[in-house]
Amino acid sequence: MHYEGNIIRPPSEANSILLQVTVGCSRTKCTFCGTYMGERFRIKDDSIIMEDIAFAAKYCRRQRRVFLCDGDALIIPQKRLLKILKEINKQLPWVTRVGIYANAKSLKMKTHDELKELKANGLGIAYMGLETGDDATLKKINKGATSKSMIQMGKKAKEAGIKLSITVLLGIAGRKHSWKHAEETGKVLSAIDPEFVGALSLMLIPGTPLYKKYEAGEFPLLEPNEMLEELKIMITHTDLSKGLFHANHASNYLPIKARFPRDKEATLKLIDKALAGKVQLKPEWLRAL
Ligand code: SF4
Repeated sequence: MHYEGNIIRPPSEANSILLQVTVGCSRTKCTFCGTYMGERFRIKDDSIIMEDIAFAAKYCRRQRRVFLCDGDALIIPQKRLLKILKEINKQLPWVTRVGIYANAKSLKMKTHDELKELKANGLGIAYMGLETGDDATLKKINKGATSKSMIQMGKKAKEAGIKLSITVLLGIAGRKHSWKHAEETGKVLSAIDPEFVGALSLMLIPGTPLYKKYEAGEFPLLEPNEMLEELKIMITHTDLSKGLFHANHASNYLPIKARFPRDKEATLKLIDKALAGKVQLKPEWLRAL
């Protein structure tokens, strides 16, 4: 396989065939994100992608899923993306699902029918970083989207039959806006009603604009209990018809894996117990991205 730079994939794609179709991310402006720092975004040559699919056809016969890396591969023009999906179908007929990172911009660039066409050709799940549903914070972190556009684009993917997994970031609004961030994020999640939600705890990455703000004393990093309070408010305001709410990423202090609406109340009780010191939190040294 021809891999270049940082290869990132969602935790749930750990066993997938990682097919790198783009290098970097077309945005690279989010102030907290160091994933593709200094990487110039480009779509890889079709010939390289086809070679990698042929390689996977020979050597990845036991993996049932494919994940298209990097940052926001959905930005690939429709014709080229379809060609990749069709080749996966042809050469890897045992693959049952293709996943991709998406953002509000890349979803906006696709029509409803185009998304349905991608779904019909195997695109089963899109991972979207919402980070926060609070417009003031979205602006501050330079996410390039509003809560309204996030809701519209999230719904658009779902209406096309593509499953949606949304990531939110605990601690991203700092201390003063923590409550608002948690409340608004819960509301946006409820409006989109995705199949999966992943809440990560913010970890500051050296070299990012947010890290510089932190060093200058302009951005506070929340304490573990404050992150948990934030998670509690977020969950209180989140209503999913049938979704999995995970906060079990390596970056989190209290691992949570809940099916909503069934486990919502029990999860809130668990957080209360942790806040009261009755459940042990993950020590700092065990947290890693
Ligand atoms: S958070 Fe996502 S959209 Fe923003 S720069 Fe990082 S990879 Fe790109």
